[in-house]
Amino acid sequence: MPPAHPFDDDKLKEECGIFGVVGVTDAANFVALGLHALQHRGQEAGGIVSHHPDHGFNSARRFGYVRDNFTSQKLMETLPGELAIGHVRYSTAGSKGQTQIRDVQPFFGEFSMGGAAIAHNGNITNADALRRELIERGSIFQSSSDSECIIHLMARSLQRNIPERMEDALRRVEGAFSVVAMTRTKLIGVRDPLGVRPLVLGKIGDGWALSSETCALDIIGAEYVREIDPGEMVVITAEHGVESIRPFRPQKSRFCIFEHVYFSRPDSIIGDRSVYETRRQIGVELARETPVDADLVCPVPDSGTPAAIGYAYESGIPYGMGIIRNQYMGRTFIEPTEQIRNMGVRLKLNVNRALIKGKRVVLVDDSVVRGTTSRKIKEMILDAGAAEVHFRIASPPTAWPCFYGVDTPQREKLLAATMSEEEMRTHLGVDSLKFISLDGLYRAVGEASGRDAKSPQYCDACFSGEYPVEPSDMLEKGFQMKAAE
Ligand code: SF4
Repeated sequence: MPPAHPFDDDKLKEECGIFGVVGVTDAANFVALGLHALQHRGQEAGGIVSHHPDHGFNSARRFGYVRDNFTSQKLMETLPGELAIGHVRYSTAGSKGQTQIRDVQPFFGEFSMGGAAIAHNGNITNADALRRELIERGSIFQSSSDSECIIHLMARSLQRNIPERMEDALRRVEGAFSVVAMTRTKLIGVRDPLGVRPLVLGKIGDGWALSSETCALDIIGAEYVREIDPGEMVVITAEHGVESIRPFRPQKSRFCIFEHVYFSRPDSIIGDRSVYETRRQIGVELARETPVDADLVCPVPDSGTPAAIGYAYESGIPYGMGIIRNQYMGRTFIEPTEQIRNMGVRLKLNVNRALIKGKRVVLVDDSVVRGTTSRKIKEMILDAGAAEVHFRIASPPTAWPCFYGVDTPQREKLLAATMSEEEMRTHLGVDSLKFISLDGLYRAVGEASGRDAKSPQYCDACFSGEYPVEPSDMLEKGFQMKAAE
């Protein structure tokens, strides 16, 4: 599968996608399809656990793409049953770049009342403290993944059944978590009290599905029912349907606004809004806020495309495919030699010279992280004979790291953390550089009055530096929060 963005090393990366199904024959096959549709949320490894009354729990965990592993009939026959969950991962805190197969989820625990498997999207911000405490009390960890803390906390709970043990465990966990889990008979879904990471419910025949995004429900032919609410736990069986529990103190939700900008697939629905339409609206707001005299609006493919369409529509400047992406640029071709690797961007993208030559070009991208690839794109456009290059960015400057399940460079590596907008413009060598404002972004996602500064409606910490959950492990490691204004 091609990467979600041609410059994967200069983008924030969502670290996980989760999917689960109950009440359908060969549930693991549906989970494999769901994970395939969620591959943009993690390409490093994937895993599936299933349960069958006669064969018990079975699992398979593999490095690489879902399509290269979980399409083998031989493998899928080892995962029988009408109940299964799965996970795709980029890599979690603790093992970046050195993932072992034991770090690949779902994790499994055997309890006195039966087994349970669990898969987690997000990041536990007090995982170091929990891990220390659990190890002191005798827990033996088998992976470097923070998510394993949940299994150990469940093992120590005195509650009578697994859903109640999970409630107990998750009350100790801070940070962002969307969870799918399973027992021998139940599919369980949970979102953290702020609902930072997504989780949706679908109906398929007599069964049910849980997914990070609605696009994965579409692929299995499931009907989208609703989002799991922030702070809600659902316990689902084929016989009794969906039971909803509220284990946490109610709080105002703070969904990740970057899901709208980049992480989620444009064919998904978030909060009853099409992600594509929201991104197009971001382009409209961007054009209103940052007009420029130009001849052509081009997206940086593919993630900048809907915003570029919106920018062109609002500004009246013609839209064109000034940069063409090579759809078949896979990993295998990049690997062999240093010489080929050094060709970098040109292997993945080519400029449409006939369109660009002599034009004043507005380039629309979703974000600027380190800025390394923005410079390369600008060079390609100028080499092709563009008269001017104007960057328009569909998110505010990314100046703070994310601690809620998104891989971000250290703060000092973020261009916007060390430079003003004008300094960034000079550094990138473009004629103009403008970002959408936070208020503009909030308007585009449906908040007509913009951002409520006293009580923001979303998590926007990577732009604002205002973290809805204190990143306690990182503070212990010396991370400096933004000074109060
Ligand atoms: S810090 Fe940014 S990427 Fe992370 S959850 Fe918040 S909005 Fe999303």
